[in-house]
Amino acid sequence: MQYVSTRGGMAPQAFSDILLEGLAPDGGLAIPEHYPQVSAQTLAQWRDLSYAELAFAVLSLFVDDIPAEDLRALTQAAYDPSLYVGEAMVPVKPLQGDMALLGLSQGPTLAFKDMAMQFLGQVFEYVLEKRDSHINILGATSGDTGSAAEYALRGKKRVNVFMLSPHGRMSDFQRAQMYSLQDPNIHNLSVKGVFDDCQDIVKQLAGDLDFKQSMQLGAVNSINWARIAAQVVYYFWGWLRATDSADQQVSFAVPSGNFGNILAGHIARQMGLPIARLVLATNENNVLEEFFRTGIYRPRDSAHTYATSSPSMDISRASNFERFVYDLVGRDPDALRALWDQLATQGYFDLSHLKDRFESEYGFVAGQSSHADRIATIAQVYRETQVLIDPHTADGVKVARDHMQPGVPMLVLETALPAKFSETIEEAIGQPAPVPEHLQHLNDLPQRVVVMDADVEQVRAYMLQNA
Ligand SMILES: *Cc1c(COP(=O)(O)O)cnc(C)c1O
Repeated sequence: MQYVSTRGGMAPQAFSDILLEGLAPDGGLAIPEHYPQVSAQTLAQWRDLSYAELAFAVLSLFVDDIPAEDLRALTQAAYDPSLYVGEAMVPVKPLQGDMALLGLSQGPTLAFKDMAMQFLGQVFEYVLEKRDSHINILGATSGDTGSAAEYALRGKKRVNVFMLSPHGRMSDFQRAQMYSLQDPNIHNLSVKGVFDDCQDIVKQLAGDLDFKQSMQLGAVNSINWARIAAQVVYYFWGWLRATDSADQQVSFAVPSGNFGNILAGHIARQMGLPIARLVLATNENNVLEEFFRTGIYRPRDSAHTYATSSPSMDISRASNFERFVYDLVGRDPDALRALWDQLATQGYFDLSHLKDRFESEYGFVAGQSSHADRIATIAQVYRETQVLIDPHTADGVKVARDHMQPGVPMLVLETALPAKFSETIEEAIGQPAPVPEHLQHLNDLPQRVVVMDADVEQVRAYMLQNA
């Protein structure tokens, strides 16, 4: 399995070669030369596998430069049931009728990003060891991504993590979750500014090529291919749990921001998994919903990106969308590049002539949800089923309801547990969300964090001293 760039300017490379990279050298994103195919017979053989075994089976199709027994050990370590709360690591939780939740948030940080990050942590350490190399991960977070990365990389050899977060702007829970990590390779830098200031500092340092090279800077952001590949696994898992034969279809509803989660669903479908619909849900930041409704993709700037009560979806430039558009334009890098040139010059591109194919060929439908929808959905689901859902998952449930088909199970991806967003839960049901038992004393733990000004030189100096 070789990987090429969506923009056509990269010689084919193996999985381990693209693992540690961000963008491809030509500015595009790495993508498999072709999608592996999975037959009905193989699906039947996968029915009895544990999650870790299924992860090994699926990831083997994307990784052919790591010996099988090593990849098996990495997936066993990443998907060890002891890291996930509850009896089933990835439970299917029935809601109403044909609708159920796919529980992806039982991992260490209570959000679905753990599912991919845990694998990333294992495979990073493994590849760095093989290459006798080191990496310094530099990132900015406003919550979920940073903590999932830190929990996946804590204590890993050959890896340091420098994570910038906006001082005083995260929830108590998020702060306690990140800053209570005592592992010496995890560095929390609390920057006196907003998230954009943190992001700017990261961009400046990563854009300084001397610094980047001498520090062996890397990132674990949502365009990382290994994260996408690891996410493909749970679409297979969900389908296997919701069906008993290969002629049955399942739909998935996905609360979306950077288009990473639902892209994995698209890939699973391209591999032959019987998926009826991929239902994309946005919040008030509806750039993607608008694209699937009109065929016009018009990203927005940060001044037009609203802060909502499903904050992990407050994104108006979906970094993984390019990988889907590549398929949409027939995997033609020239056509893809022309579209991204248009984005740069006129601020949008228009694929409305392909609109009929979004659903008929790719299964995509979309909808959006508002704060009022979110509150009403959380309250109603709780009242009628006693299941408490988080605000992002609520956006998924709200939009999924409009796209049910008779006899087709709808799995809504549970992207976080409600305990992370208790304020909104309280608004919806008049009481806070329960905190899982093992996290009830999180706030009492000592915190390890360095506060600094929003000044690139202070961050640089700290990194030079602590790498
Ligand atoms: C990251 C995140 C999303 C958005 O996922 P994408 O892969 O960026 O589309 C949705 N919900 C939660 C809780 C998240 O953390």
